[in-house]
Amino acid sequence: MLGLRDLGPERLESILDRAESLLPVVRDGVALPNPVRPAMVGLLFLENSTRTRCSFEVAANRLGHRSVVLTGLGSSLDKGESLIDTAANLAAMGLDALVIRSAIAGGADLVARNIGIPVVNAGDGRHEHPTQALLDASTLRARLGSLAGKRILIVGDILNSRVARSNIHALTAMGATVVLVGPPPLLPWTFAEFGSGVDVTHDLDGVLDTADAVMMLRIQLERDAGRAVASDYRFAFGLTVNRLARLGPEVPILHPGPMNRGVEIDDSVSADIARSAILEQVARGVAVRMAIIEAALELPAG
Ligand code: ASP
Repeated sequence: MLGLRDLGPERLESILDRAESLLPVVRDGVALPNPVRPAMVGLLFLENSTRTRCSFEVAANRLGHRSVVLTGLGSSLDKGESLIDTAANLAAMGLDALVIRSAIAGGADLVARNIGIPVVNAGDGRHEHPTQALLDASTLRARLGSLAGKRILIVGDILNSRVARSNIHALTAMGATVVLVGPPPLLPWTFAEFGSGVDVTHDLDGVLDTADAVMMLRIQLERDAGRAVASDYRFAFGLTVNRLARLGPEVPILHPGPMNRGVEIDDSVSADIARSAILEQVARGVAVRMAIIEAALELPAG
């Protein structure tokens, strides 16, 4: 699972269906039968993470597997060891699959082509974050039913967001129109990689009333995006209480986290019990990652 670009609607829906059936394990602690041979899942996390890393660990545990974590800090990457060598050494320890996050766009793909075990992309630089988009799609499907014909606003730093890219692939494949909203410096200048179903605007207030769902994104300060943003960002692109009031009572609000409260989203918006789907996303993230680990372990090694 390296990206969603070429996955196609059937595969997407089948992963989401499997995740849905695993949700009671996450929400109600329903136990699964132990696997015949517990697998060892490696988590190589070379960028900061809270939700993704922990939910992969929880997912592996819930499936009855084990995990081992290596972060950049304190590893031999500091001594100049390469990404491929690091991953190859982990694989040589007998891991059954490797989940990898790195700042390098294409990093997971590079590793997958050089080691003989299944690789899952947990975020590669600005490129893709497929399991995030799958959990977003799972949340949207649960709230809206079929996504066909729905208008999903993605607001913020689209240019630097792997979450946006993976979501555009997933949501358009499922028949939604994705409306990308942000200031000009934070929007891509070409959309050639995407098919139809993508609209672009700089005017959040002009499209808010048309939204079936709104996904807010953080400005990727670690990718230098802050330099391109004016200090009044919140007034043009923040999901404020006033803007929330313009959304229908059924319009879900998503955010992949971490939130910068008071910048892209106000406190009371994220706390809106009916509309905020932010913690539901997190719960569904575990189920989605269980489905992905399961699928990865079904692949023959080599
Ligand atoms: N957690 C998401 C990611 O790793 C979103 C973010 O960091 O803004 O891409």
